[in-house]
Amino acid sequence: MSSGKEHDKATLIISVPFGVSVGLFLGADLGILGGLSFLVGGLWLSPDLDTHSNSLKRWGFLKWMWWPYRKSIKHRSIFSHGPFIGTVLRTTYLMTWLILMLATLQLLGVIELIPIVQKLTNLIKNNPIQIFTVILGFESSAMLHLIKDGDPWLLK
Ligand SMILES: [Zn+2]
Repeated sequence: MSSGKEHDKATLIISVPFGVSVGLFLGADLGILGGLSFLVGGLWLSPDLDTHSNSLKRWGFLKWMWWPYRKSIKHRSIFSHGPFIGTVLRTTYLMTWLILMLATLQLLGVIELIPIVQKLTNLIKNNPIQIFTVILGFESSAMLHLIKDGDPWLLK
């Protein structure tokens, strides 16, 4: 199992060849998006959000959002350190918070939720390859994390 510093260092180093590889197949713009998504996935959405970690500290004053996640998911369980399921759960969890925050802003009369949801839906519908690239970056950085941890889920 690697330390937080080792995970961060591996994420920073591997994000470059990952972005270059994506760029070779999908073009330079998507290569940059893929490399940045790999960084965000490894540094902010790491499987180690299930414990006190560097990733958790990076959320700064927003790290309270991950308290329910940490309390309900055991460190290194399949729900945080399982291939695919970990990334799906973390991104779904984050999207749920985003929706709750937007709904709260609507209740306070600060925003109109429906037009924002429609714009987000259109953004996703009109940019499927970009969304795919972001998800690929998130999941690939999670896979790097699992390999560095020596997680048993990858050996099954
Ligand atoms: Zn880990």
